[in-house]
Amino acid sequence: MPDTAGVKVLAYHWVDPEPGRRLRAWGLTPDVFAAQMTALVDGGYKVLSLAEALQVVRGERPVSHKTVALTFDDGYMDLLDHALPVLRRFELPATFFLVSDRVGRTNTWDARHGDPPRPLMGWKDAAALAAEGMEIGSHSRTHPFLTNLSESEMDREIRGSKEVIEDRLGRPVRFFSYPHGLHDTRCRGLVASAGYSAACSTRFGGNGAATDPFQMHRSEITHYDTSWSFWFKARTGFGIRAWATATAGELLPRFVTGQNGMTP
Ligand SMILES: [Zn+2]
Repeated sequence: MPDTAGVKVLAYHWVDPEPGRRLRAWGLTPDVFAAQMTALVDGGYKVLSLAEALQVVRGERPVSHKTVALTFDDGYMDLLDHALPVLRRFELPATFFLVSDRVGRTNTWDARHGDPPRPLMGWKDAAALAAEGMEIGSHSRTHPFLTNLSESEMDREIRGSKEVIEDRLGRPVRFFSYPHGLHDTRCRGLVASAGYSAACSTRFGGNGAATDPFQMHRSEITHYDTSWSFWFKARTGFGIRAWATATAGELLPRFVTGQNGMTP
């Protein structure tokens, strides 16, 4: 069965009454986001910071099945109005991953899809989040497809963004989130050598002692998640289709080779 042990890290993008058109999948309306946080709290889930989730990965902290961490990629301004009040109300920690060269500007990397640009939070907003205990991480300088870059370009995005955010906020940047979820062994190596403690991918799964801290698993929560599929992701770390594929991948070879006695 797919590995569902450990902390489930949930990945969000924007929370806005206008969730978008072509990119709608990555937007939640404020009422849905509030309902999801309410469901976690009412359901007895423990929400850890990403630093606490990393302690689980390092084997320094025991964890129950009902444990999640919350992350927000790109640093959208709308999160301040529509996600932050909910996080504050329930006293939930979260990590915000900034695109350092786009702070205070817009999501130019998504322009090719044709949706109106979305404003990104500024440095003062990020500093205020950090001051109230939220984690600020890096999501590169310009949100490129990292795996297409030369090693020096890749390093500029990975190490450079860490330095810029640390300069602007005066705090260590411990976590990286791979833009577009893309990474390879070169990216992983550069993230580790740049001094990050961990990095988030967009691969499904739980995060436990067997997890590579530089390829932590996350479940992306989309506009199309129902309360049931949201619960499934929080509970297992998998989308339903990904779960079915992973499970079939384990069962099918046994069926074909007859290990279960059904074929010779
Ligand atoms: Zn992103």
